[in-house]
Amino acid sequence: MDKKKLGFTTRQIHGEGHDKPLHAHNMPIFQSSTYMFDSPDHGAALFAGEIKGHIYTRLGNPTTEALERTLTNLEEAEASVVFPSGLAAIQGATLPFMKHGDHIISGDTLYGPTLSLFGDIYARYGISTTFVNTANPDEVRKAIRPETKFCFYETPANPTNKVSDIAAISEICRHAGVKSVIDNTFATPYNQTPLTLGTDIVIHSATKYLNGHGDIIGGCAMGKSEDMDIVRTYRTATGPCISPFDSYLFLRGLKTLSMRMDRHNKNGLAVAEFLHDHPDVDKVMYPGLPDDPGYKVAKKQMRGFSGMVAFELKGGFQAAKEVLQNTKLFILAVSLGTVDSLIQHPASMTHAKVSKEFREKQGLTDNLIRISVGCEDTEDLIADLGQAIEKAKAAVGA
Ligand code: PLP
Repeated sequence: MDKKKLGFTTRQIHGEGHDKPLHAHNMPIFQSSTYMFDSPDHGAALFAGEIKGHIYTRLGNPTTEALERTLTNLEEAEASVVFPSGLAAIQGATLPFMKHGDHIISGDTLYGPTLSLFGDIYARYGISTTFVNTANPDEVRKAIRPETKFCFYETPANPTNKVSDIAAISEICRHAGVKSVIDNTFATPYNQTPLTLGTDIVIHSATKYLNGHGDIIGGCAMGKSEDMDIVRTYRTATGPCISPFDSYLFLRGLKTLSMRMDRHNKNGLAVAEFLHDHPDVDKVMYPGLPDDPGYKVAKKQMRGFSGMVAFELKGGFQAAKEVLQNTKLFILAVSLGTVDSLIQHPASMTHAKVSKEFREKQGLTDNLIRISVGCEDTEDLIADLGQAIEKAKAAVGA
């Protein structure tokens, strides 16, 4: 079977392979921290890498490896490394390639804690970061220095859905010998495969769409085998290994990714169109709307636009708070990409630690609401938002 020729849904279901222990149909949870050796020579040969096998779960676990094979297949990578969170994956995919004095170019619109990881934590160890608007690839070109190791960005970016041109940035980075890394959490490999457009490494917060059910925290990095060997060695040496049970839940969620994403794409677009035409909404940020600034590039590099929508209400912060208070199906919680719909306020929640000045430069205003549109019936979601906006209007008199 030529796996490359199989469709996405077939690969998400069969990507782990059929060679399972004890002829199990489903990959079992290998809830074991260590593995027995047949003899001292067997143990020594495993440690020396002369034979393949399992030693200790921090080094490798059969359930996690089945998950890694599936992820490799879906992102069209050569190899994958799973982590116990998205942030651990971001650190694991960047830090092992850097040393004191190196430099990162980062997109300026990012998940708040990723901004802190680069701008605060890495800075303490002598790794500097220049934040640029990656929607303009020229800003990436201009920021490159001899000591630049990475260009890291999200597209679409959290929370404003800013879109950056993956092929253009990959080309600029390749010429300069800089690795480009994309956080593909918002899009998923169903909607966008950055490695096929020249990106070196893709990471995900698997907590989101990849798992889809909101029951694990997880992450992963994918790319070329030689890079992933370095990432895996770093994971083994520094310790962030996912639990086998979480790998199992992650793998189980992954098997329905395409079916869920079809629904997220459909509902995301319908909700964005509803908000776009709503008289009490000032602005909608969704790359699938033809008047969105990212639409042209998104059309070129994405197969669907996902379920993440950001919008600003007339009536300012007070009106936004009323909407958050009054939705019945959209649950007031951070995170995203679950089968149920979520609503949150980035300026006071996910991006609260980002300075107001930095936030506003990227269009992340105090009245911006971010929703993760789930898989419920479209008309129910639209009705829920509609009634919450009505209540907000009545409350603030906008
Ligand atoms: N990247 C993006 C785009 C995110 O939204 C998040 C979390 O919300 C992360 C990374 C971090 O992932 P985790 O919470 O799994 O560490």
